[in-house]
Amino acid sequence: MNEKLYELLDTIQRTAVQASDVAADAAYGVSKKAGELLSVAKLNIRVVELKAEVNTALRELGEMLYATHTGDPTDSETLLAKLESIDALKTQIADLNAQIGREQAAAACPTCGAAIQEGDQFCRECGGKL
Ligand SMILES: [Zn+2]
Repeated sequence: MNEKLYELLDTIQRTAVQASDVAADAAYGVSKKAGELLSVAKLNIRVVELKAEVNTALRELGEMLYATHTGDPTDSETLLAKLESIDALKTQIADLNAQIGREQAAAACPTCGAAIQEGDQFCRECGGKL
């Protein structure tokens, strides 16, 4: 079959550990950057944007592999850069989801878990003091 394609897939497997290291670095950068003062709504919008970027990158990755199959080989470096960018995006998404979870937990009644709004002194569900 296609030798170039096998080479690429081989490279992907060999660099699997390395890629996760890159993702860990990216996660650190993101958690510092994404930081404070972002509302859950804004975080959710960012997650949707990032997921769209992942989809685009995955499609491009597929095109690279298919081009290799049809005799227009992608070099390993380009392919790995694409894989790493997907790793980084997925790490950012996980990071934002964790942040959303933390903010939602912070905005819940400690007694019943109902959502509370800024400035509420008592829970609108159970009446517990906040
Ligand atoms: Zn409550």
